[in-house]
Amino acid sequence: MGPLVVNVADLLRRPGIRRHEELHGHVPVTMVGTSVSADDDVGVRVTLEAVSEGVLATGSVTASWRAECRRCLRPVAGEVVVRFRELYERHAREGETYPLIHEQVDLEPLARETLLLELPLTALCQADCPGICPSCGADLSEGACDCEPVVRDPRWAALDDLRLD
Ligand SMILES: [Zn+2]
Ligand SMILES: [Zn+2]
Repeated sequence: MGPLVVNVADLLRRPGIRRHEELHGHVPVTMVGTSVSADDDVGVRVTLEAVSEGVLATGSVTASWRAECRRCLRPVAGEVVVRFRELYERHAREGETYPLIHEQVDLEPLARETLLLELPLTALCQADCPGICPSCGADLSEGACDCEPVVRDPRWAALDDLRLD
């Protein structure tokens, strides 16, 4: 039995009662096409409640993540706390509810899917990170370099092409 699997036999026998659990477990989360990676030690706080359709799980998933700043490539780290409210039922509907198997709920797939939706896709070390000089590669957070400043905003180039003589 995995660390995020909870036996709910007691709840199923007494609908209406609730149980609170605080769990920790490894939840491998693979983010494709981004520098963000989640630490796979994930915390789940959940209140489980038997309802007529199955077991309702309400709570939050907490995970830390690491990434590279999208402008200067310095390491960046952060934490996400994501709330969820999901139903576990015996005849789970694909993409809508989670399966209730042998009177157990497995919170790992719920935690993984919740995190995949909420982890940042890119990160900045600071909101106004100046990034790296495109000419000499200097880290501009350390100070300006000696390159000629770029005067034109590249977005204007598209307008130049549209100009009619
Ligand atoms: Zn940066
Ligand atoms: Zn430079």
